[in-house]
Amino acid sequence: MLTLAVSKGRIYEDALPLLAEAGIVPTIDPDKSRKLILPTNHIDIRLLVIRATDVPTYVEYGAADMGIAGKDVLAEYGDEGLYEPIDLGIARCRLMTAARRDYVPSGQRLRVATKYVKLAQRYFAGQGVQSEIIKLYGSMELAPLVGLADVIVDLVDTGNTLKANGLEAREEIMAISSRLVVNKAAMKTKHQVVSDFLRRMEQIVAARV
Ligand code: AMP
Repeated sequence: MLTLAVSKGRIYEDALPLLAEAGIVPTIDPDKSRKLILPTNHIDIRLLVIRATDVPTYVEYGAADMGIAGKDVLAEYGDEGLYEPIDLGIARCRLMTAARRDYVPSGQRLRVATKYVKLAQRYFAGQGVQSEIIKLYGSMELAPLVGLADVIVDLVDTGNTLKANGLEAREEIMAISSRLVVNKAAMKTKHQVVSDFLRRMEQIVAARV
C-alpha cells in the first residue's frame, strides 16, 4: 500500500491532473464525501486529503509514504525530517509582504500579522528590521485594515485578494510551488514502488515545462 498525503484546496486541484497523468485517479470526490481516506483506481494506492500544515507531519511519521505540500508550509513547519526530491511546479505563488496602499513605514518596530511566524521573523531579521510578529490563522488581509498590524506576510497569486481589501504587495520573500515529499524510511522499505513513482512524476513534470 502506498499512501499519499495531499494538501486540500488549490494544491489538491492542481495535483489531480498530474496524478491522472501518472494513471492515478481517486474514485471518490472529497468535496462530495466525508471520507478522509480516498481510494484510487489502484487498489494499492490511497490518498489522504488533509490540511496543508498537517502534510509534513503525516509524512515525517510515516502515516503517509509521500506527500504534496507547498514550499511555504515545508519551510515554515519544518522539512528536515523529509526528502523533498521533486518540485512539481504546481500551485505557484509568492510569499510577500503587503500593506495598506497609504502605509508609510515609520521606522518604529514593525507589527506583522501572519501565519508564517518563522519565515517572517527570519525575513525581517535578515533585513535588519525590528518586528513584532502576531500569529494569525487566516484572513491576514484584515489585520492592517483594523489596526492590528502594519504589514502582513501572506501568499499572493493574482493579487486580487489584496486589491479587494485596499492592500498592495510590497516585498517578495520567496517564490512558492508545491513539492513532492517522501518519508525517509519509505524510501528504503518501499524502495521499488517509491522510486518508480518518483521517476514517473519526474518525467511528467519535465514534459510540462
Ligand atoms: P490571489 O487573490 O490570487 O492573490 O490569492 C491570494 C489568496 O489565496 C490568499 O488568501 C492566499 O493565502 C491564497 N493563495 C494564493 N496562492 C496560494 C497557493 N498556491 N496555495 C494556497 N493558497 C494560496
